[in-house]
Amino acid sequence: MKTLQITPSISQLRRQLTPWREGGARIALVPTMGALHNGHLSLVRHANLLAQRVVVSIFVNPTQFAPHEDFAAYPRTLKPDCDKLSDTGAVDLVFSPSPEEMYPPGFATGLTMGGPARGLESDFRPHFFGGVATVVAKLLIAVMPDIAIFGEKDYQQLLVVRQLTRDLGLPTEIVGAPIVRESDGLALSSRNVYLNSGERLIAGKLNRVLAEACQRLREGEAVTAVETDSANALRLAGFDTIDYITVRDAHTLAPLNQLERPARILAAATVGKTRLIDNMEI
Ligand code: AMP
Repeated sequence: MKTLQITPSISQLRRQLTPWREGGARIALVPTMGALHNGHLSLVRHANLLAQRVVVSIFVNPTQFAPHEDFAAYPRTLKPDCDKLSDTGAVDLVFSPSPEEMYPPGFATGLTMGGPARGLESDFRPHFFGGVATVVAKLLIAVMPDIAIFGEKDYQQLLVVRQLTRDLGLPTEIVGAPIVRESDGLALSSRNVYLNSGERLIAGKLNRVLAEACQRLREGEAVTAVETDSANALRLAGFDTIDYITVRDAHTLAPLNQLERPARILAAATVGKTRLIDNMEI
């Protein structure tokens, strides 16, 4: 069992990490935006199996939200989040900076990314991966962890983070962790609190449509036919907008017409005002 410490400052964070590192401890980082649920906690437990010291960052990153998105409304629940992390007994340190700590006045640096950041989420949230890449790079540089754990729930983000870590020569191994789901299969997400009861029922159908698509693809049905039918199935299920439901190369996210390489099906759709993303290995 560990005793949780909390710091809002990068310099204090570094001071706390130094003796751990000098003592030879392996350090893991789990970056989050808070409003923690069992998906986040599974990453933390995973981290605790792979490292002696676990740092969790909680920061709602303004640069990955567009002006029309939900930055102001995003749930902020630091005290209950810290209680949940403390209850796991797996976390040593919570880093919960203010926006000014991460982006001091005059901040003028940003990362732009190609490769896996192209398409999919970027077609609908063009600002998103620039913001994610900048904040993740800052967090990795501040903590310099041996490993950092990211959920496969945000599959494109996981590939983007792997790419930026490689490209910047950062000494951190990026570890992917499986998606944690509700009993009906809905992927846990901090944004699920926005769903009313009718929308919640519709939301639960996203993973079923993905699972059925996987099944048909494994049985050898044509990719384009399955993609078209799946988009129609989401519409019929009650989704308001289908941004994409598409089969991609699991490593590069390049479109695939045939399943000759490891593949993943990825989807984004809105129900009411809530945008959901999900994906599955085929
Ligand atoms: P967020 O707080 O939404 O930015 O997510 C922080 C981390 O938790 C990211 O690496 C996400 O991919 C991961 N995560 C979010 N939801 C889930 C889930 N249902 N299962 C596994 N990991 C998740």
